[in-house]
Amino acid sequence: MKNILDFNLDELKKWMDENSESKFRGKQVFDWIYKKGIFAFDDMKNIPKSTKEKLKDSFYIGIPKAVEVYKSSIDDTRKILFEYNDGNLIEAVVMKYKYGNSICVSTQVGCRMGCKFCASTVGGVVRNLSSGEIIAQVLKAQNEINDRISNIVLMGSGEPLDNFENVIKFIYLVNAPDTLNIGQRHITLSTCGIVPKIEELAEEELQITLAISLHAPNDKIRKTMMPIANKYSLQEILDACKYYFNKTSRRISFEYALVKDINDKIENAEELSSKLTGIKCHVNLIPINEIKENNFKKSRIETINNFKGVLTKYNIETTIRREMGSDINAACGQLRRQYINK
Ligand code: SAH
Repeated sequence: MKNILDFNLDELKKWMDENSESKFRGKQVFDWIYKKGIFAFDDMKNIPKSTKEKLKDSFYIGIPKAVEVYKSSIDDTRKILFEYNDGNLIEAVVMKYKYGNSICVSTQVGCRMGCKFCASTVGGVVRNLSSGEIIAQVLKAQNEINDRISNIVLMGSGEPLDNFENVIKFIYLVNAPDTLNIGQRHITLSTCGIVPKIEELAEEELQITLAISLHAPNDKIRKTMMPIANKYSLQEILDACKYYFNKTSRRISFEYALVKDINDKIENAEELSSKLTGIKCHVNLIPINEIKENNFKKSRIETINNFKGVLTKYNIETTIRREMGSDINAACGQLRRQYINK
């Protein structure tokens, strides 16, 4: 049995053809799934019974179960704990903004990058998610909120560039007019900085936003937070970012999670500014989410504002990420861990 969500329209049309069905049935099935949010072959009214039987013999529609849905009473953020067929759990977060609904999807069950401040990586990686398993999070979330999702960030659990093929296939799939038609510019991929894969991504010449989890102004500090820093230097990452920009003309987004006394000093902001000068970018400062698996503490708001002040002084566009869903553990793999621990 195959997950039909792993197929793009051309592949499904080909399947129809090979199974003595008209190719246009492929489009009809896609309409039910992607345009109408119907996840059972039996409910697809214009599909003949015999075709449905064939479909059911070969495919399942791999929508995960929403085992828990938490709704923030502060800002309407929803956190969904999904369970796939094999019992694996991942989480996705849906955020309401003025410009539309945004979802943060997971790309792997767990993660093997080992960032010291992150809950998703506790326990390592279990497996990759397929393109269909990633798009299923968006489909199910749309049904959950009864509204369209217009923006996607690949910032849930997992390292997207450690699951390169499936993630690229997902981006093309979700971008296609016959599925969810989400514009590439409405998709952000966040990575801890796997340099060769950033270059490979640049070669695709997609119009998505590349976000880099930088979190430090130099390798010395970065190594204390992120094991990947032992493999690729900050300079190599920045060079890869320039390459990405040259290929795509897309401004890079740098994420910098501020941790008290580790990376939040004025001198750190000065050093960061000098490194980023000359790169078309935007910096997103994130007050770190305190999790119980480590001792990283959030910087004070004054410290965060001062840090921002330095970057702004050097004309680096900087925003402080709004904390959303803080009452529902909406950040960074906390929900899955909690559930597993229970
Ligand atoms: N693996 C990818 C994407 C998933 S993590 C990456 O590293 O970018 C998404 C973002 O959340 C990353 O910037 C990551 O560094 C950040 N993050 C992880 N744990 C966090 C925490 N406890 N507080 C704040 N941000 C965190």
